[in-house]
Amino acid sequence: MPSRQQMLQELKLAPRWVRKQHSSGAAALSGVAASSGAEPETGAVKGVRVTPVQHGADAARLEHIAGLSLAELAADVADCTACRLCRSRKLAVPGVGDPEADWLFVGEAPGAEEDARGEPFVGQAGRLLDNMLRALGLSRERQVYIANVLKCRPPNNRTPEPAEALACQPYLSRQIELIAPRIIVALGKSAATLLLGEESSIASLRGRVHRYRDVPLVVTYHPAYLLRSLPDKAKAWEDLLLAKRVVAGG
Ligand code: URA
Repeated sequence: MPSRQQMLQELKLAPRWVRKQHSSGAAALSGVAASSGAEPETGAVKGVRVTPVQHGADAARLEHIAGLSLAELAADVADCTACRLCRSRKLAVPGVGDPEADWLFVGEAPGAEEDARGEPFVGQAGRLLDNMLRALGLSRERQVYIANVLKCRPPNNRTPEPAEALACQPYLSRQIELIAPRIIVALGKSAATLLLGEESSIASLRGRVHRYRDVPLVVTYHPAYLLRSLPDKAKAWEDLLLAKRVVAGG
């Protein structure tokens, strides 16, 4: 019987301690979103005031996004100016994967490497996510789609602001509708807060099956957080096995 440590090593989920950088007083993993996966992060979509004029413009935009295909959505995201992040992004990061995926993984926001390449989870956290997918017998090309709450990188990888998450939400909503996954895995607090509409700790949300509309949803820790927390890696693996049972219909 392999020990838990051996199992984690086999899954390549054992800790890989990385040098931390410090910017604006916030500890940051090199190449990984500073706020991503930090368990105490905030980020609820609340306190956003919408004026009637804005509401009219929003309605037209929502209607437009609700009619997009995945390819059209990617082009739309690339041209999006709905929030100020369009001014600082290099590339928008709409999402990647199998358009008919059973599994949809939702992270927080692109980091520096994602912003440079236009693809989600290609940095250090992404390598951990890829290892997790491999351990599940999945890959980002087959049966998996990966997207983020925000399609554009927040400056200095800060936590998404509520207004930004709200502006980007129609894209994620349309992606979920088009992909129609059998399971959504919310990676970290920003994704969980946006998709569940409630702000709670990952510890209190994980380990059970929630719903986003009709789609089962499992919450787990963000890979960037897992890079520095061995005990929670084992919990994340349990969450993924729970998601796998949901996909299998069990
Ligand atoms: N963190 C995220 O949440 N998403 C990415 O795409 C990369 C890092």
